[in-house]
Amino acid sequence: MNILVINAGSSSLKYQLYNMSTETAIAKGRVERIGMDSSILTHEVDHQPEVREVSEILDHTTAIKKVLDMLTHRKFGVLRNIADIQAVGHRVVHGGESFSESVLVDANVKLEIRRLFDLAPLHNPAHMMGITAVEDNLPEVPQAVVFDTAFHQTMPPSSYLYAIPTVLYRKHKIRRYGFHGTSHDYVSQRTAEFLGKPLSQLKLITCHIGNGASCTAILHGKSYDTSMGMTPLEGLMMGTRSGDLDPAVVPHTINKEDLTLNEVSSMLNKHSGLIAISGLSSDMREIVEAMNEGNESAKLAFDMYAYRIRKYIGAYIAAMDGADAIVFTAGVGENSDVLRKTVCERLTFFGVKLDEERNSVRSSEPRTITTDDSAVAVLVVPTNEELLIARDTYRLVKNKTAGQASF
Ligand code: ADP
Repeated sequence: MNILVINAGSSSLKYQLYNMSTETAIAKGRVERIGMDSSILTHEVDHQPEVREVSEILDHTTAIKKVLDMLTHRKFGVLRNIADIQAVGHRVVHGGESFSESVLVDANVKLEIRRLFDLAPLHNPAHMMGITAVEDNLPEVPQAVVFDTAFHQTMPPSSYLYAIPTVLYRKHKIRRYGFHGTSHDYVSQRTAEFLGKPLSQLKLITCHIGNGASCTAILHGKSYDTSMGMTPLEGLMMGTRSGDLDPAVVPHTINKEDLTLNEVSSMLNKHSGLIAISGLSSDMREIVEAMNEGNESAKLAFDMYAYRIRKYIGAYIAAMDGADAIVFTAGVGENSDVLRKTVCERLTFFGVKLDEERNSVRSSEPRTITTDDSAVAVLVVPTNEELLIARDTYRLVKNKTAGQASF
């Protein structure tokens, strides 16, 4: 079965085509600047140079049509016919309390995703455009939706409630939801496989450290607590997001700087974190480079960033009364040995013993970076959210068609 995985944004759309018999991505790419002039489609197939096509793509329906044309292109394509795509899986950021697992798209599911626009005004409407665009182009093909929040629906109320009047939760569902769930889920499964132990017996702390960043306490395979909140703004310091701060900072800043709520929201989401403290960049590579050249603001930004990760790890060891492994993943977590070292070097109280040589190895495979006698193992496990979306879609479509024609 071939499954097309789609991550639709408001003006962009990323795709990967998975062959499920080998679980490999046979083509991938992205469309950028949808709705603007000079839209760009970038398409990649293994061992071949990237293809770039500039054209006018005014909406998501046209974007999907272009992607399908590329996937079946005589020279650059990997399929003979679009009928070779048997299902489509979409990433959806917010599933609220309605979705604790991935589901096939039907009228009710679409209604519910629309109802959740309120909680994710930047993301869910764009995902909906992706779903409609696939319907327009491939009306017979089943679609599934995989939610970033679903994995965290196992959190107990003591983790997900904010200590504010409960009427706000009852009326408006204001609570912690958590994000990056697909990544935390995938990485925890991969970690259990790697350690050769059932997930149901493990206490894990997964640290997804990319442009966005979050830590999750995974108790016996289930999310017990996570650092992101009602929105992805809470928790760790990130590339451009502040992470945790005293909520009183918001009205105070509005008063002192004569800003609007939207301006403060934009400040906290887009102009805070690494870029604000370093004054340089939101990209950890540039921060490390500048720090190595003696830039003090970059060093402070780096130290704050690492310190907050360490604090969350400490909190989650306490929350679960122990941890078998701490796992780093995503762009920074997988690639920055200096970040991992800085986080781990003051976890010795918990018995973490980093092996510097293992930490400096680069590999796309899961690996341990602590010594064999470390009381808590620290691992690097590359994430693959698209594969998990493809797997969930495959499972749902197969279950639905069980007993009917086989793929
Ligand atoms: P997203 O959250 O957008 O999915 P990624 O997980 O792809 O992000 O992470 C992207 C970030 O990873 C980049 O902004 C960059 O800061 C960081 N990164 C990538 N490679 C390295 C590296 N070698 N060292 C440090 N940081 C890196």
